[in-house]
Amino acid sequence: MSETAPGSAPAERTDHRGDGDDRVPGGPPLLQVRNLKKHFPITGGFFQRVVGQVRAVDDVSFDVHEGEILSLVGESGCGKTTTARCVLRALDPTAGEVLFRRADGETVDVAKLRESELRPLWREMQMIFQDPFGSLNPRKNLLEIIGEPLYVQGVTSRQARMDRVAELLNLVGLRPEYMHRFPHAFSGGQRQRVVIARALALEPRLVVADEAVSALDVSVQAQILNLLLDLQRRLNLSYLFVAHDLSIVKHISHRVAVMYVGKIAELAPTDDLFRRPKHPYTSALMKAVPVADPDHRAALQGLPGEVANPADPPSGCYFHPRCPFAEERCRTETPQLRELAPGHHVSCHRAEELDLDGIGDLESGGDGAERPFGRAPAAPASADAAPPAEGPS
Ligand code: SF4
Repeated sequence: MSETAPGSAPAERTDHRGDGDDRVPGGPPLLQVRNLKKHFPITGGFFQRVVGQVRAVDDVSFDVHEGEILSLVGESGCGKTTTARCVLRALDPTAGEVLFRRADGETVDVAKLRESELRPLWREMQMIFQDPFGSLNPRKNLLEIIGEPLYVQGVTSRQARMDRVAELLNLVGLRPEYMHRFPHAFSGGQRQRVVIARALALEPRLVVADEAVSALDVSVQAQILNLLLDLQRRLNLSYLFVAHDLSIVKHISHRVAVMYVGKIAELAPTDDLFRRPKHPYTSALMKAVPVADPDHRAALQGLPGEVANPADPPSGCYFHPRCPFAEERCRTETPQLRELAPGHHVSCHRAEELDLDGIGDLESGGDGAERPFGRAPAAPASADAAPPAEGPS
């Protein structure tokens, strides 16, 4: 066992994303999140005084390397989306650093930049949202939607925007002639392709995908995941991928960070995490994979109790009221995130001695239940790119 900077990657890493590509990108980190905190004040009384804090993100650290997909996973309210929003400064962190290595080589702390300094940085950092229906303006056609960030960044020539939008539509598996159509004419999968095209318009290096396929049908999810993987490889993108579904995380990630009540419970290369989980919560999440909705608390089979309240977390290990392995010190001592094996970080007092169940192969392992995404789906990236049945107006 050794102590290293929490969230850093192992020097020599192997992994398996189920796609034949075992290598995990190394090199200097593109993003370094250090001791990130986001607390929301609770107010009460006649004068609306601050009477408490919701510790949505509470001392989280991790790296994302160039060309790497790091996933944040956990139940609703674990802090994964808040973390992602702090990384992009869609929310102002309460404390901590978000160090981003810009294209010019300079590292900046996103958490401390002024608004005017953030704007040029957003060329390099973009977000893909969960809801492809709500995130597209129904009154604008695809040329306006995808071309808007280009215009904002100074591409004032309409022809130049049309050329770039055509290129982007091609890139995401849609026909360039669709640029004059409106969002209502497209299916959910096609709209998500539009959202992705817009996010890629300014050639970002880091893409934060917040539950990017959660709102889609399972068959379409596979196609969009394939597209995201394809784009990541072709453009050497880095993803911070936020999801509650472990089967999706397994399919696309180089490494996975499991969050519980605002903290990282475990962070490891994907294959290592799924085969040899070291935190009881990770193992419990894996047992919940076969159920229809892993985000539902009741899906955590075998675990008593509710997710801890981040406004009033339990003492010691936040997980102790639900943990079947809890002992006395778990109730009083807060476990620190520490490195048990190269790149495998765990926050559990008993991590060395516990022998927990993993699910090495999501397709046929574990309980034998069918998994939606064990390996890269066979469907081509542009499988849902045909014109929608209803046709454009
Ligand atoms: Fe369970 Fe104790 Fe480990 Fe927390 S520290 S996960 S309560 S064994």
